[in-house]
Amino acid sequence: MHLKCDTTTCLSKVIGGGDMTEHSLFTKIHFITHDVYIPFRCKRCGRRCRTFIPRFSHERLEEIAALLDRPPADIHRHYRERLHYRYTKTPLPCLFFKDDTNECMIYPLRPQCCRLYPFSYGGGDKNCPAYREHLMLVSAMAEERGPYDIYDSSFAHAIDQRPIPHRDWPEILQRFMAETSSHILIRNFIKMNRIMPRDNTYSQAEDLTL
Ligand code: SF4
Repeated sequence: MHLKCDTTTCLSKVIGGGDMTEHSLFTKIHFITHDVYIPFRCKRCGRRCRTFIPRFSHERLEEIAALLDRPPADIHRHYRERLHYRYTKTPLPCLFFKDDTNECMIYPLRPQCCRLYPFSYGGGDKNCPAYREHLMLVSAMAEERGPYDIYDSSFAHAIDQRPIPHRDWPEILQRFMAETSSHILIRNFIKMNRIMPRDNTYSQAEDLTL
């Protein structure tokens, strides 16, 4: 996976990209004539939140205190105590993680590294089942097909998405479905990719310059 630009800029591009919001994380496989999007879907295993404490600005901690209706000093102290364990061999869970339901208590205020996980900063955890499946799907879809480049949604935006030639789509969809039995992933894959109309095949795609 490439990381080519500042995450803040990239996130704003992702948010601005039609359906491609920060909630639809994906990998974009860039072929010579078209792009194929592979959706990522979190299985909410909570593995990352159990061993990771993200950084927060002072201002954000104030907002979090207001959201949770707790005294800011309390949040600050609790956060600093946890942060101390961030780089130890026994990292603690994030203080905003709800272990019984695998939920983030500050979901609307979670930082960018959480919004973009597993495509943020240090990358995904290969022990994460959803990330492992994603990597397998990307590699199966790109295999022997000569991708020009592969991007992840931490910086790939959908505005310049080049549609898949109509005649290639059945084979691409079949290949995707052969690799996963997840109906949600298959539905998202269909929703996320653009197909060129039947009467507009390769001649139009070849006009698109890279
Ligand atoms: S802020 Fe939320 S999403 Fe991020 S690590 Fe903590 S619990 Fe997980």
